[in-house]
Amino acid sequence: MYTGRASRNLRSRLERHLRAEKALRWHIDYLLKWAKVQEVRIFSGRAAEECGINLETARSNGYAFLVPGFGSSDCACPAHLLWTGNNGHDGPRAAEEDMSPQESRD
Ligand SMILES: [Zn+2]
Repeated sequence: MYTGRASRNLRSRLERHLRAEKALRWHIDYLLKWAKVQEVRIFSGRAAEECGINLETARSNGYAFLVPGFGSSDCACPAHLLWTGNNGHDGPRAAEEDMSPQESRD
């Protein structure tokens, strides 16, 4: 799970995240080259609440901060990317396999 915010242009920001072709600018852009978005949840509130939502979600669900500093270069959170466990989806091992170079068929 990734927690991010948009102080303005929320719709265009979300459309950009969901678009496959784009310049790679933020951590999440690099992740989304390999990951599949399954759900988007929108909360309204002050910018400072982004970190509170992130930390409370991790704490209350026992989710792990998988990549230190991912998406949190401008705040004190360990990361804004949470590993939620398998929850019926492929885990990190499957993701690593998906990112492996494809064997040549020559
Ligand atoms: Zn934060």
